[in-house]
Amino acid sequence: MGCTRKGALPMGTAQHIERVTVGSGLVGMLGVCLLLGGCDRPKSPTDIPSRIPGTSADHVSPDASYDADWPRPRSQDRLGERRRMVEQIADYGVGDADILAAMGEVPRHWFVNEGEQPFAYDDRPLPIGHGQTISQPFIVAYMTRLLEPDADAKVLEIGTGSGYQAAVLNEFTPHVFTIEIVEPLGRQARERFAEHGYSSIQTHIGDGYKGWPEHAPFDAIIVTCAPDAIPQALIDQLKPTGRMVIPVGGVFSIQQLVLVTKERDGSISQRSMMPVRFVPMVPDNTPQ
Ligand code: SAH
Repeated sequence: MGCTRKGALPMGTAQHIERVTVGSGLVGMLGVCLLLGGCDRPKSPTDIPSRIPGTSADHVSPDASYDADWPRPRSQDRLGERRRMVEQIADYGVGDADILAAMGEVPRHWFVNEGEQPFAYDDRPLPIGHGQTISQPFIVAYMTRLLEPDADAKVLEIGTGSGYQAAVLNEFTPHVFTIEIVEPLGRQARERFAEHGYSSIQTHIGDGYKGWPEHAPFDAIIVTCAPDAIPQALIDQLKPTGRMVIPVGGVFSIQQLVLVTKERDGSISQRSMMPVRFVPMVPDNTPQ
């Protein structure tokens, strides 16, 4: 069935892949490929729509990344591995120079636990403790591409995890707000940001279902854990003309990566981009 594996399939935070239901058609094929451990990505479902109105393709050229007036930490360590990772992302179809430049700049190994260091530049999710994972680089690039905020955009991330996705967003805008529900992960990400100089990223430990009303509305929202349905608070906190990218679906079903657009009149449109596998978005059960 033509699974010529070059790397991992687009998956956010793959776990329990044996539970992927094999359906029919393309989704079925993807399911089978997941069960087999990966295959080339399908040609059509990852076609990427144009950017948010008001954002631009060329606001950051590869070299302009040094001109920003907010901290974008850099490392010369493991450059070769990072370049190979970027080539693989480009092979999968995210070819935008600014996205690839950002992926080439952010040192993923800063966000990967000690035991996983040898695999820091593999194009796959890795465990970060507490049953959670750092997302696959391809999916980070793909989701960032769907939003691609300009330098004025305010972006909310739900699911800080390792902090890597937030660091990639920080390449485009200093206005990154990120929420993590698992306290030790939230603290660890906060320490990493401080250690490496990501001083403009704002972190919060709490329940992402509520969004971050104090900083709303947001031009873009990125959710890196999967709820069963799109949380209303996040829709409410999205600006008109804003975009949200969010995996939707239960743990035992095929999740869809959904691109939500809020029109000027406040109406919402949704588009399924591709099947994905993310960890669940858990509700906060602490008594109020
Ligand atoms: N963006 C992360 C990926 C983290 S995996 C990275 O780049 O590493 C998803 C994260 O979502 C996990 O850390 C999980 O604890 C968190 N999460 C799950 N439910 C949540 C909720 N209700 N609110 C905030 N974070 C949540």
